[in-house]
Amino acid sequence: MQPTRETFGNIPHSSQVIFYGLTVVTMAVFAYGIWRRFKLWRQGAPIGLKQLMAGSLQQIWARLQPGARRLWVEGLGQKRVRGRGLPSWAHGLLFAGFMMLFLGTTLLEIDHLSSGISEALHFHRGTYYVVYEFTLDVFGVLFLIGCILFLWRRTRRPASVGHQATDWYVLGSFIAIGVTGYLLEGLRMAWQQPTGIAAQCSPVGLLIAQGFSGLSNAAARSAHFTVWWIHALLVFVFIASIPHTRLMHFIAGPMNLFLAQPVLGKLVPVSMEEVEKTERIGVSAVAHFNQQQLLSLDACMECGRCEDACPAFATDKPLSPKKVVQDLKRLMTLSLTPRPADSSTPLPALHGDTIQAETLWSCTACSACVDVCPVRIDPLTLITDMRRNRVGEGTLSGTAATALRRMQSSSNPWGLPAADRPNWSEGLGAPTARENPNFEVLYWIGCAGSYDRRAQRVARAVVKLLKHAGVNFAILGREEKCTGESARRLGDEFLFQELAQANIATLAKYNVRKILAHCPHCLNSLLKDYSQFGGQYEVIHHTQFISQLIKEGRLKVPGSNDPGNAGAVTYHDPCYLARANGIHEAPREVLRTALGASSAPVDFREMLRNREKTFCCGAGGGRMWMEEDPKQRVSTVRAKEALATGAKTVAVGCPFCLTMITDGVAGQDSSARVMDVAELLAEKLGV
Ligand code: SF4
Ligand code: SF4
Repeated sequence: MQPTRETFGNIPHSSQVIFYGLTVVTMAVFAYGIWRRFKLWRQGAPIGLKQLMAGSLQQIWARLQPGARRLWVEGLGQKRVRGRGLPSWAHGLLFAGFMMLFLGTTLLEIDHLSSGISEALHFHRGTYYVVYEFTLDVFGVLFLIGCILFLWRRTRRPASVGHQATDWYVLGSFIAIGVTGYLLEGLRMAWQQPTGIAAQCSPVGLLIAQGFSGLSNAAARSAHFTVWWIHALLVFVFIASIPHTRLMHFIAGPMNLFLAQPVLGKLVPVSMEEVEKTERIGVSAVAHFNQQQLLSLDACMECGRCEDACPAFATDKPLSPKKVVQDLKRLMTLSLTPRPADSSTPLPALHGDTIQAETLWSCTACSACVDVCPVRIDPLTLITDMRRNRVGEGTLSGTAATALRRMQSSSNPWGLPAADRPNWSEGLGAPTARENPNFEVLYWIGCAGSYDRRAQRVARAVVKLLKHAGVNFAILGREEKCTGESARRLGDEFLFQELAQANIATLAKYNVRKILAHCPHCLNSLLKDYSQFGGQYEVIHHTQFISQLIKEGRLKVPGSNDPGNAGAVTYHDPCYLARANGIHEAPREVLRTALGASSAPVDFREMLRNREKTFCCGAGGGRMWMEEDPKQRVSTVRAKEALATGAKTVAVGCPFCLTMITDGVAGQDSSARVMDVAELLAEKLGV
């Protein structure tokens, strides 16, 4: 006889009828809960779902493919959950166990329904049965291990992880469902007495059945029936409660993974038509967020990864990306749920009551929170949308507002004359595009390289290296204006657009296709912001360009027995270079060449947080132009990390980082040098 078992073995017909009745009720409660959340999301600005589904099947698939891929790799494959030690293991085990048990239960039901039609369709037997039983037995154990790991972690109450009373209920339900599932299996085996492979394929069930060996067949059946109902009721209550607990991320998480537009360093533009239509800029009420942003609020499981990565939170500023998401979620629930007509309780406002101005202005736009979120929630875009409104309403004051005014009046945040822009290049013989229209590459200097004395030395070093390598380059000189990157991240979208359009026109005049930039903020803006307004360029960081020159033999770095005076070196990855644009190996390659000797490789020491996982210097998001309490400086945290490596030279690849890390290192009374990668190479070459 083939090994198999009856799906509703020992369960009377009347109980089966009640079971299916309760299934319908449970699914109705579940669907109603999801529908209520869906109605909240729907009140956001439309995200063009109709356009997404318009056109030929091929076009629709092309649009859906990235989301489907994310679902597969990051949802089912748990790609973004991995790599965090115990929480990752706990989630992985629980997820794998849950999915397998869910799949197993579904298959069991399919078999039950199909075998009701014809015995020939009964597939839950033979080899399939053996594999099925064994797989579910093993995955059930993994599921319980995952639950226990989570339980242990929750008892330790890590500060960044959210705690709700329902969390205990959720974990308790999981464990109770898992345990009653095994008891059920053990009791079934106790009264069915399977033998051979039919018993061995459920090793855990068999073990439990041995514990019930003293029970009579009738007692085992009776106990089996009772546990069956307890198990079923636990499952029903659990399913019905999903939309009302943290488990909602089961639904909203995958949906957000599918719909998110996850390009780090990219912002959605605002058009004048949009402003005229809505009579506002940015977001002043929670319903002004788009539908995907509202959905994303429900995807948050308060894992705290964003908070752990946030430089503002790490330096005691009033910003936690997790809290922003949770506060907005509460406001969405409160303000978008229909209220009784006679309700007189005023609703909290978005700005001021829910999100404080200091919270918005604390963000360095470093994208660390976006990068680490397992379900691709984007607190940075939520913050930028709210900033846009605050700037539009004229509530931004202080040094950042001054910088914006200067960008408007003088096309640079220092407010220095445009005519002085090329002064840094005096005596270097750097040709302008007008003087050398047939250039190979345009060197974009940026405001810091043009006006900041320290950053000017970086621009000079780059020009010397370019000339040393015989590169046919040009600069824009007086015709270059601020990219507007800081303005855009601060929320002044139209100032950014004005500057961008002026620069795009200048670049078009000289038919620029390839741009070299030493500033990652300029690089990111020219690459990802300008392409939204018709400016399509190949933009390359100076460390990439120099690395290429070395590889091509155009820039010769002779081997030396003298490793120079750099000593041990560390490198700080700028957020907009490493995280937003994935550029982190080129600077390291140049450093190895610049500082290594033929007889002794460079003593290169990595900081704990490096490459995409770098920690901000504190200058992004327009924070460069804001006063910072010395006790709350992000640059101090990063400088300490750099100095903890024992480095005598801290290399950087960004003029903002150069300023911030220099300040941070100086605050530690350290004699370590902070130098741009290009400066170190120029020093080695003696150019
Ligand atoms: S926003 Fe993402 S990373 Fe932050 S707590 Fe929520 S789920 Fe975790
Ligand atoms: S972008 Fe950076 S500073 Fe802003 S909330 Fe996210 S992690 Fe914090």
